Amino acid sequence: MKTTYRAMQVTRPGLLELVERPVPKPGVGEVLIEVDACGICGADTGDIDGADPTLQPPRVPGHEVVGRIAMLGEHTPSIWKVGQRVGVGRLGGPCGECAQCRQGHFELCQNQPFVGATCDGGYAEMMLARASGLVSIPEELNAEEAAPILCAGIATFNALKKCGAQAGDTVVILGIGGLGHMALQYARRMGFLVVAVGRGADIAQDAQKLGAHVYIDTHEEDAAAKLQGMGGAKAIITTIGQTDTVSALMGGLAPQGRLVLLASGKDPLPVLAGHLVVGERSILGSITGSPYENEKTLDFSVLTGVRPMIEVMPLEKANEAYQRMRSGDVKFRMVLTMGRLPEAA
Ligand SMILES: [Zn+2]
Ligand SMILES: [Zn+2]
Repeated sequence: MKTTYRAMQVTRPGLLELVERPVPKPGVGEVLIEVDACGICGADTGDIDGADPTLQPPRVPGHEVVGRIAMLGEHTPSIWKVGQRVGVGRLGGPCGECAQCRQGHFELCQNQPFVGATCDGGYAEMMLARASGLVSIPEELNAEEAAPILCAGIATFNALKKCGAQAGDTVVILGIGGLGHMALQYARRMGFLVVAVGRGADIAQDAQKLGAHVYIDTHEEDAAAKLQGMGGAKAIITTIGQTDTVSALMGGLAPQGRLVLLASGKDPLPVLAGHLVVGERSILGSITGSPYENEKTLDFSVLTGVRPMIEVMPLEKANEAYQRMRSGDVKFRMVLTMGRLPEAA
């Protein structure tokens, strides 16, 4: 095995630098992963632009990681073998001991690393990961298409499962980007009447191709009024952080409708209390999910033919790929590849 590997680290906030690092040995309960692909998520903005400039060595971002196990540390479960294809999402592996873990709420573990933020992530040829955070990758998916499912996929898949809507109900997807384009596909296949809400006419065709029955352009129409005209939405899944836009759409929720928030912005969300109380409406935050739930997301994607739409760039072009993601000029997910020969899918 190699003794060094290439990584793109955040040398100063906003800037990724290609470095060569010594290959680490996995500690107790950890594995070493040889990375094949890593998606670029909107949340990487916080990890790259908001990086701690004093951190040494600087952080390697990336939390949509797919690769193979290169080495097992001590006390790793026997389900994991060297050579096995695995992935890691944003949540780096529950501790199994805290109050949330003991209640089975592994996604809320209080001692869990955020991959790419509080531990190194997958913009690299190698990465260490907690075995408790590993996700098995089905052979039907290649690394590049599996990677975005591990964050953009599970975030939206789980939000739809928690949104309270049943087959035939109207569900709104607000924002058609990395997360939204997965949400539209899942929502369609779950049997909802799918409404996409976006800005501008240019995205309408894509939204419909991805599964939307109806597209509402907020530049042209009052989306909340249009939804009320359709009888109201049972759920609105928001993938964007602009709280004024989210707030304006809430008027489109049917009684007992749920607004599910996926973007963790810092701005307060204005809400009309009476609108919630009188119609028994509610607001729910939803984090990605556990490794087991990630495997269910992958399984559902295979079963129903959901795939992310991706653009692939090599690891060393991570700065360019990141800027493309930031500018919104990508349909719909950038994925970094580590430059090995493509695997047979
Ligand atoms: Zn993410
Ligand atoms: Zn825990």
